[in-house]
Amino acid sequence: MKIAICASEVVPYAKTGGLADVAGALPQALEKLGQEVIIVMPRYKSINESKFKLQRIKEDISYSITGNKIKVYFIEKDKYFNREGLYQDKSGDYKDNLARFSYYNKRTLELLKEINFKPDIIHVHDWQASLIPVYLKTIFLKDPFYQATKTILTIHNIGYQGLFPKEEFPQLGLDWSIFNIEGLEFYGKINILKGGMEYSDIINTVSSTYSKEIQTKEFGFGLEGVLNKRRNSLFGILNGLDYSIWNPETDKFISKNYSLKTIADKYSNKKDLQEICRLPLHDEVPLFGIVSRLAEQKGFDIFSEAMNEICKQNLQLVILGTGDLKYHQLLEKATKKHPKVISLHLKFDDPLAHKIYAGSDAFLMPSRYEPCGLGQLISLRYGTIPLVFKTGGLADTVNEDNGFIFERYSKEDLVRTIKEAVAAFKTNKKWSRLITKAMECNFSWDESAKHYLKLYAKAKSQ
Ligand code: ADP
Repeated sequence: MKIAICASEVVPYAKTGGLADVAGALPQALEKLGQEVIIVMPRYKSINESKFKLQRIKEDISYSITGNKIKVYFIEKDKYFNREGLYQDKSGDYKDNLARFSYYNKRTLELLKEINFKPDIIHVHDWQASLIPVYLKTIFLKDPFYQATKTILTIHNIGYQGLFPKEEFPQLGLDWSIFNIEGLEFYGKINILKGGMEYSDIINTVSSTYSKEIQTKEFGFGLEGVLNKRRNSLFGILNGLDYSIWNPETDKFISKNYSLKTIADKYSNKKDLQEICRLPLHDEVPLFGIVSRLAEQKGFDIFSEAMNEICKQNLQLVILGTGDLKYHQLLEKATKKHPKVISLHLKFDDPLAHKIYAGSDAFLMPSRYEPCGLGQLISLRYGTIPLVFKTGGLADTVNEDNGFIFERYSKEDLVRTIKEAVAAFKTNKKWSRLITKAMECNFSWDESAKHYLKLYAKAKSQ
């Protein structure tokens, strides 16, 4: 099958979160299954020409190779993409995001024809690529080139929908007739993700539990009705993890490689992390790691409420993240108060993230909701025991055998579960069993990619 993957961030070219991990790994897993795959994404300022050996094919198009021979096409437009951030700067979302991403979507469809890549499937991800199915079934409807092309939309987080004022609609180049309840309209605004949901042939999300949750009022962010309407075309496929990047046996960023057989070497990484983080070098104190966007979704509301009580436990905390200013300030304050307990790193730092996954004993991820979550999958691989709230992909991957899981989203339950983990850490046998179960989990892309292939086949046969 010919498959075009369209995502606004792709590892190793640009990343702000899990979407990039998925969009980087899935194409390679599909290629291994014998499929012909290309990727199309915007060319941001940070995508370095020599590092990625870019080759120019048009004035505004260059490409790089990933996997074996997957071409990653970059759409250039200085006005839109030649800036530091992907979606925002310090003052918030870029004001011209609608113009930026609608341009990327339309140019992608033109490009497929220009390079004569006639896809069976265009697999679009999140709102930033959601206008592709819309353009395909409106502006490009009559073009014979796309007649057999089907679209799949993967929703990585329904909390991010691409909402814009109605007044910006004319810049999309679409007919006003589709600005209605069956189209892009959402309570008087433009909702780009909704457009993708209405116009794509198949919709999927990144875990089975989340695909059910988003059909409810609690998790649907107002789009539960649309999803209910399309429930026969809605599926859930758990993300895999790229084990060529996330593997404690080969990871180049960590101080000592290890496996289950050489698990004692994990503790060199703990010591290394404690040193880097200027924490006391105690191996008998459990070290909890956090690598996360600092947002309410990730549980930072209950976490900040619980902070003082957590810091009274006999534990250490290493936190790496960026996000809401509110949480930056709260965490800075707590770190000042408990400098021997917390080590705070308010930045995006991939090498440090690897060190935290390897050097921590446990990984905190109390997300209020979590479509799939990669942090817990990575930590399982590194024998770092996840402690999570039972929701979405966390509920599908963490259980009492390989981690700690609480069922009521509250500060009290979070603290209680942390205390349980601290107590379990003292019991060597129990902790070793958790590590074994965690490291034996297999969430490789091989399985997930096979599920995607089935979904593509289903779309094709429609
Ligand atoms: P999200 O909702 O942010 O996509 P996921 O758990 O699906 O959450 O994926 C987050 C990914 O981003 C993981 O690979 C995680 O290690 C990484 N990550 C998050 N914050 C940082 C950071 N500050 N520095 C480095 N990596 C980070």
